[in-house]
Amino acid sequence: MSDVLVVADHRRGDLRDVSFELLTAGRELADATGGDLHAAVISGGVEEFAESLNREGVDRIHTVEYGEEFNHDVYTQAVVALAEELDPEVVVTPNSVNGLDYAPAVAIRLGRPYVSDATGLDHADGTLEVTREMYGSKVETTVDVAEGPFVVTVRGGEWPPTAGSGDAEISAFDVDVDEDAIRSTVKGFEEVGGGDVDIAEAEFLVSIGRGIEEEENLALVEELVEVTGATLSSSRPIVDNGWLPKNRQVGQSGKQVTPDVYLAIGISGAVQHVAGMKSADTIIAVNTDPNAPIFDIADYGVVGDLFDVMPRLIEEFGGEPPGV
Ligand code: FAD
Repeated sequence: MSDVLVVADHRRGDLRDVSFELLTAGRELADATGGDLHAAVISGGVEEFAESLNREGVDRIHTVEYGEEFNHDVYTQAVVALAEELDPEVVVTPNSVNGLDYAPAVAIRLGRPYVSDATGLDHADGTLEVTREMYGSKVETTVDVAEGPFVVTVRGGEWPPTAGSGDAEISAFDVDVDEDAIRSTVKGFEEVGGGDVDIAEAEFLVSIGRGIEEEENLALVEELVEVTGATLSSSRPIVDNGWLPKNRQVGQSGKQVTPDVYLAIGISGAVQHVAGMKSADTIIAVNTDPNAPIFDIADYGVVGDLFDVMPRLIEEFGGEPPGV
């Protein structure tokens, strides 16, 4: 028993980026355990998803055709069946809304130890070493779990996505789904305010914080977003004030984001905020306070007043600053 099984995540017809990060985490683990890397995709357009998941380092891909969207009972039954058949040393799922929903149920049914929200993984001598963050990312801990095999959920944005195409063997996996055990169904999706913007998928985020002072000043950042083609996000106080919808919030109690560029304007860099954006490729900060913690993680920084810097940036990109 040394293989690793990762379970992809998808929603409304699209594989979620975290699925490709799972492949990297899974490959690293499989190298440590000396086994194969299996990926499973359950429900939806499984054949198309399997083609996308066929990337470097993946040995086998299993498709489970059943329904369209995520369903707790279907996923639980399918992952349990896959684990019973493949007997992997580690089952890895995303620490997403879906993953957190079924992974504990899978662990219980298989009688395996379960660790959530891993930010690092290693395996040696039968022990799974899991890195996790605690106290709002202030403390990093390492948990040694000795009694394998294991079930673990991994945090999005902690591993780079696997690139390069692969030559995995793709095959359908039949699960005899017990329909009487399905107690919930997805009837539809309702967007929360703010439309269908998913800041977790954005490549360029302009993020605004309490430094903006007043709701009416958001016009300035909206103009910057417009001329740069970026997506707007924010720190929590902006959402708490009701100035932007919750789906724009970055951080521990908001979304984890991994853009190419994260431009933080008037954001101090509190640990709860940083927990959601520290994996951005390039972080640029604008803040009047040279000692603001955001500068500790920024690649580029401007110590300056956002009300001076933003109009100049807007002009630089060919726009006209609104009269704020
Ligand atoms: P502040 O900390 O007030 O910082 C404003 C910054 O703007 C300052 O650094 C200031 O120097 C700068 N500034 C002021 N005026 C200007 C100007 N004119 N030009 C340029 N810079 C200026 N926060 C999140 O963001 N996301 C979360 O998910 C989240 N979850 C949390 C969960 C818990 C359990 C708790 C307890 C807190 C959470 N928080 C979260 C809140 C977090 O602790 C901080 O309070 C919050 O991130 C601060 O937001 P801010 O940086 O916008 O505001």
